[in-house]
Amino acid sequence: MGKGRQTDPQQVASAYEFRPGDLLADRATDEPRTAPGDRADTEAATRDLLEELATMQERLYAEGVGGGQRSLLLLLQGMDTSGKDGSVRRVVGSMNPAGVRITSFKKPTDEELSHDFLWRIDRALPPAGHVGVFNRSQYEDVLVVRVHDLVPESEWSTRYERINEFERRIVDAGTHLVKVMLHISKAEQKERLAERLEDPTKYWKYNAGDLHERTFWDSYQAAYQDALSRCTTDSAPWYVVPGDRKWYRDWVLANLLVDALRDMSPTYPPPDFDVAEQRRLVAALD
Ligand code: AMP
Ligand code: MG
Repeated sequence: MGKGRQTDPQQVASAYEFRPGDLLADRATDEPRTAPGDRADTEAATRDLLEELATMQERLYAEGVGGGQRSLLLLLQGMDTSGKDGSVRRVVGSMNPAGVRITSFKKPTDEELSHDFLWRIDRALPPAGHVGVFNRSQYEDVLVVRVHDLVPESEWSTRYERINEFERRIVDAGTHLVKVMLHISKAEQKERLAERLEDPTKYWKYNAGDLHERTFWDSYQAAYQDALSRCTTDSAPWYVVPGDRKWYRDWVLANLLVDALRDMSPTYPPPDFDVAEQRRLVAALD
């Protein structure tokens, strides 16, 4: 156990839930207010939570093997360099990869563009018993698409309600949906871009196109504000996670996932065989 004070994942989650009427601009990007202690304490507490996460994931997987239909979907959004990939590595990476389906949504292919925007999303939903992770998502279709007028407003403006209907449907079908915006400051983005240029092992992460996107920072924040406000529903809430400190971001994400899985409380399936009889047979093996 970490040395710090005890905290409750449900309370941590509740602290970062986005509620109708909230303003993104009021949300902190760097305030570690639910941390159980200092950085070392928090990292220790995160390790404990990630162990619990791995156990809970195994229970969900087992439930699926036993015929259960439920799944968990973590959806990650955020500005360039906000830590989507790092979160996948450091938090999602603690789970058994056999039960995890990670999908990174890029600029749509010609085939994807020939379908409705939700087509590629639907195909990437986690199977029963699995944890799905979306690195970017259906929300790009009301974010980058809106900021750059990739489709007319008459079209993107209908997508918020389409997304709400889609999410309602998948939640009703048994998918627990956790939507996360990794919220970083503009100064922190500059810092991360600079870091990538200082270290040859990070050049591959550097994308010169991000500098151009950065000039649209305010438009993106406005588009995020609308996506958060218009697609916050009881069945599919948004969480705005402070992203400037990676150790704190990981802590909050671990709490969100543990809270979701505790809430789901997946159960190991009962045996579909006679345990006593099988024990006798195994004992009698040569
Ligand atoms: P990255 O996450 O750094 O690999 O970059 C993926 C890129 O794909 C980002 O620039 C996104 O804005 C872009 N992208 C993702 N989804 C869409 C979409 N639906 N329409 C246009 N661009 C998209
Ligand atoms: Mg990028």
